[in-house]
Amino acid sequence: RSGEYLYGQLVKRDIPVVIMEPLLGGRLSKVPDHVVAHLKQRKPENSVASWAFRYIASKPAVLTVLSGMTYMEHLQDNIRSYSPLEPLSQEEQEWLEGETASLIKGYPTIDCNDCKYCMPCPYGLDIPAIFTHYNRCVNKGQVPESQQARNYQQARRAFLVGYDRSVPRLRQANHCIQCRACVPHCPQQIDIPAQLQRIDEFVEKLKQNKL
Ligand code: SF4
Ligand code: SF4
Repeated sequence: RSGEYLYGQLVKRDIPVVIMEPLLGGRLSKVPDHVVAHLKQRKPENSVASWAFRYIASKPAVLTVLSGMTYMEHLQDNIRSYSPLEPLSQEEQEWLEGETASLIKGYPTIDCNDCKYCMPCPYGLDIPAIFTHYNRCVNKGQVPESQQARNYQQARRAFLVGYDRSVPRLRQANHCIQCRACVPHCPQQIDIPAQLQRIDEFVEKLKQNKL
């Protein structure tokens, strides 16, 4: 893992570490509902983001954590987390790196944070809007695995209607020609064309009722 390696190199040379994007472009504060519940169970009064803030600031070589803030609540949450910092206990760190990380990784959302660095696509696709719609539906339980799923009809309708509302037809996943021009621009290293193809296959199956 390159982050761990780089951190180790800085520690070895006794160079203080400045952290950018402690929330991975917002992804670590917008986790699925069951992960929110998992974190809240532990500290109901703390925000989801505060776990990431405390995790990174508890590393001994970290000097500063720079976090982008849009709203006053973000600033307030930031101040609450760092004034003063309550360092993670060993047990909390293991809990985050083990159970909590597996919960996040095992969830079928796409790691897109809507940064739009991949845009514009030369073929007009709205890549972040497609991924945002897909992730929203995953979070709402509207991505059925098969026609046998309990809420299949309702989920199918919600996914397809929402897709047309969120992404104009000419900008949807079926227009991707797999040229891969977008791939090097994605800081989250998402294989964008592969994910678009996967979503398009899912949409086609839903449309034809062949899931
Ligand atoms: S791979 Fe698809 S989404 Fe990416 S730039 Fe090419 S056409 Fe657009
Ligand atoms: S660059 Fe990657 S993370 Fe950013 S909007 Fe595009 S797909 Fe999403």
